[in-house]
Amino acid sequence: MRIYLDNNATTPMLPAVWEAMRPYFIDVPGNPASSHRDGQKARQALEDARERTAALLGAHADEVIFTSGATEANNLAIFGLSSSAGHVISSGIEHPSVVEPIHKLVQHGLQYSNLPVNREGVVDPDALARFVRPDTCLVAVMLANHETGAIQPVDKLTCQLQDRVALHCDAAAGAGKIKIDFRSLGASSLTISGHKFHGPKGVGALLVRRGTKLRAQLFGGHQQQGRRPGTEPVALVVGMATALDLTMTELDDRTENVRALRQRFLDGLRRWAEPIAVNGSASDGIPHTINVSFPGCRADVLLMKLDLAGISCSTGSACSSGSLLPSPVLKAMGVEDAILHSAMRFSLSHLLTQTQVDEASARIGQAVNQLRSAIQP
Ligand code: PMP
Repeated sequence: MRIYLDNNATTPMLPAVWEAMRPYFIDVPGNPASSHRDGQKARQALEDARERTAALLGAHADEVIFTSGATEANNLAIFGLSSSAGHVISSGIEHPSVVEPIHKLVQHGLQYSNLPVNREGVVDPDALARFVRPDTCLVAVMLANHETGAIQPVDKLTCQLQDRVALHCDAAAGAGKIKIDFRSLGASSLTISGHKFHGPKGVGALLVRRGTKLRAQLFGGHQQQGRRPGTEPVALVVGMATALDLTMTELDDRTENVRALRQRFLDGLRRWAEPIAVNGSASDGIPHTINVSFPGCRADVLLMKLDLAGISCSTGSACSSGSLLPSPVLKAMGVEDAILHSAMRFSLSHLLTQTQVDEASARIGQAVNQLRSAIQP
């Protein structure tokens, strides 16, 4: 039996999501931009999904721009909200789809400051004032971290900025796992991605607050007010809205379930694989994400061994796994080398069973102990 513990990389899509999407792949042929009835039917579904997505995230429908996923939404926000000169700030734990566009801005002459995080992987909102300058045009801080689950105080940061500077929030790892109210969060823009909460891959959204000037990054169509032209993927958008609806309706039950699974898993690791070190806060944060180091093991070797033992997990973000470099997130947290190089990310979902979690911790313990005994003299 394979056990899937990589739900931060992506989640399995729920059958109910497929059922909701199916008619828009097969029975409704229209392009939502066409004025005939088939087109209007597609448009109706698209706008209905836009309204549902907005309502579930505390936003207005005209604030929702559908994209191909979080990477595109983050690129659109970073390039679309920044000015051609000036200064940008981001936390040191952002996903590569935020880090690399900012790196491009720096190559084009913008200046950059890194907002530090503490040992638990959380930004200190009071530190922001030290970095903001009169020419700061953009701050990027994620809602929840993809490697540790640490929740960031985005509302406190926006409170400090008081609308003088745009703040972009990548909520790809938080959406569907914690409640999001775009209005009270105070961010100028916010990213979500359907496949992170049991929806389809290849669709996401950027919420952009009314009145915020966003420069389009794609050209050649009038769709979505010209801010993201191109024919909208109606079926995918319907699937994402359905998945978001399901996850928010069941949020309390799913969270309680995952929290219990997390505790059981950690108890199992302590039983079979001691010593372990939990990176980030052991109790706060999103319970789905567990970042654990196994001193004495090399994470890349353990990853392969676990794959052979039927366990899918990761050593960090899926977008940077494959690289042997240690996690920039844990580095930013000041994690020392032995812990850094033996860190694994296990990410859970409500679909897992207690039996799977018990079996996983036992298999991990076995792999860890084999590696540790292999390096003993
Ligand atoms: N941001 C975060 C925090 C993520 O975890 C991911 C997925 N690894 C992304 C952005 C990119 O998402 P997508 O796969 O939808 O492009």
